[in-house]
Amino acid sequence: MGRKRKRKPGFIGRYFGYVLLPVIVYGWASGNMSAAFILIASSLTLLYMLFAAPSWCMATTRDGNGCRRNSSGLLLGCSLREHKWQKMKMAFRASKWGELFGRFWGNTANSAAAVSAMATTLSALVAAVALATR
Ligand SMILES: [Zn+2]
Repeated sequence: MGRKRKRKPGFIGRYFGYVLLPVIVYGWASGNMSAAFILIASSLTLLYMLFAAPSWCMATTRDGNGCRRNSSGLLLGCSLREHKWQKMKMAFRASKWGELFGRFWGNTANSAAAVSAMATTLSALVAAVALATR
């Protein structure tokens, strides 16, 4: 049975944002890395968390629960177009951020990505300030 293997991103490809996190932490802790590098690494990680990290969809379904289908990133929904729209709409409305964020705490994958997203936002801001005030 010579089934061809599908080319899927490997572990590093799938989790590369989480691989960058310790690099950023090391950058801050050691002081050896330039703020520009940390800013770029933080921005990349943030984008990864929002658009690529393996997580659950968590859009509201008709029975009022969060959708449990797999999605890529905190801001994108699962393969259902309706769920994608629902989450995009919430992301663009500041008043809905609390609700959106509350959902991320429901499961490990999403809260790990949410915490990482917050940490990298902070890291990127501090790096940007460090660059601007140098
Ligand atoms: Zn969904």
